[in-house]
Amino acid sequence: MLAEPVRACQACGLHRTCRRPVPGSGPFDAQVFVIGQSPGATEDDEGKPFVGRAGAVLREALERNGISSFYLTNAVKCHPPGNRKARNEERTACFSWLLAELSLWQPPEDHLIVVLGEDASKTLFPDLKFTAARAATNLEFEGHPVKVILHPAALLHDMHKRAAFEQDIDKVADFLHPGHRLDYAANYQVFGRTIGFVEAWERAMGAGMIGLDAEFFPDLTMIGWSMSWASGEGIWVPRDAKHGIVLLDDLMDGRLDLAIHSVQADAPVICKALGMSPYDWPWNKVRDTAVAAYVMREPNIGLKDLTFKHFGVRMLNFNEMGGTPEAFAALPVEAQARYAVGDADFARRLWVEKYRDKVLYGV
Ligand code: SF4
Repeated sequence: MLAEPVRACQACGLHRTCRRPVPGSGPFDAQVFVIGQSPGATEDDEGKPFVGRAGAVLREALERNGISSFYLTNAVKCHPPGNRKARNEERTACFSWLLAELSLWQPPEDHLIVVLGEDASKTLFPDLKFTAARAATNLEFEGHPVKVILHPAALLHDMHKRAAFEQDIDKVADFLHPGHRLDYAANYQVFGRTIGFVEAWERAMGAGMIGLDAEFFPDLTMIGWSMSWASGEGIWVPRDAKHGIVLLDDLMDGRLDLAIHSVQADAPVICKALGMSPYDWPWNKVRDTAVAAYVMREPNIGLKDLTFKHFGVRMLNFNEMGGTPEAFAALPVEAQARYAVGDADFARRLWVEKYRDKVLYGV
C-alpha cells in the first residue's frame, strides 16, 4: 500500500544517492512494530528492511522469545551515503512515511513499538537521552507503548554488548508475555543440601524417564549436572557435591531412559567426568532434544524455543546467568539450580508429553 509511493519518493536528497528506497515490511496487524533508523548497505542493495546481519540477529532474538509477528521499518527509508547519519532535514522529510505506516497499523491489544538504537530513539524522542529512553518504562508514541532497546548492529561490533541486548529483548518479551516465566525456584533442589543420595536415587529409579543436562567449561570439565524425574521437580548436582558423581554413574548404567538436553554437547562432558568410554554410553536408552525436534520438523530446534512453543514458558537464558561458564560457576548453587534443572526438566517433558508417541526413531 505504501511501498510504491515510498519507492517513488523524492522528498529529500537521499533518493539521488541510494540504490533503492526501503519501505517497511510485514503485516499491518503485527504484534510488534520495529523502528530502526535507516537502511544499511545490504538493505539498500535488496530494497528490503533488516535483511543484513543485524536484521538476522534481531529476528532470531525475537523469535527465540516467542515473538513472531512483527512489522519492520526505518525512520528514514533511504540509505545515507557512506553510512553517515541521516541529517535533520532528511529525518524531517521522511517522518511522514513513518506516521503513515503507523496510521495503517492495527495491532492486537497486547502490542508494542520497539525502537532500535540511539539514532532512531532521537528521531522519536528528541528530548530524551538514549540511556533514559532505554530505561523508561512508560514511553508512548502515537498512543502505542514503546520500548527502546540497543540496536542489534551493536553486537556485531562488540560481543560484550550481547548480554545487554538480551536483557533488552527480555524486557520486550516480558511486556508482551507477562507471567510466562517459570517459577524455577519452586521444586528444584540442590543435591546434598535439601535432598540426599538415597532419595534422589529412588526418585530417579521410580520415574519412567529422567531428564539430564550438564553445565561445563570449554575444556569439557563439568561445573555440575542436573536431573529431573517429574514435571517441575529435579536436582542440581554441583561437581564437588559428595557422592554426586557416584549418583551420575549409577544413572548412566543403562537401566533408565534418559532425555538429554543435547547429546552432542553433553555426552563428551559426562564421559569425561565418569572416565567412561563413549563405547559404553547407553545410546539405546538416550533421547536427544535436537534430534526429536528435527524429526518433528519443528521450525526452531532449541530447547528454549520448543519449551516456549509447547508450554508457554520462557526459560532463563544463559546470558541471564552471567553469559560465560566462569560467571555461571561463580553463582550461588540455588541460582545455578534455577537455570540448570529447567533444562533437564523440559528436555524430559518434551519427550514424555510431546514427542514420545509421535517420534518413531530416536537416537
Ligand atoms: Fe523520500 Fe524518505 Fe527517501 Fe527522503 S529518505 S527520498 S523522504 S523516502
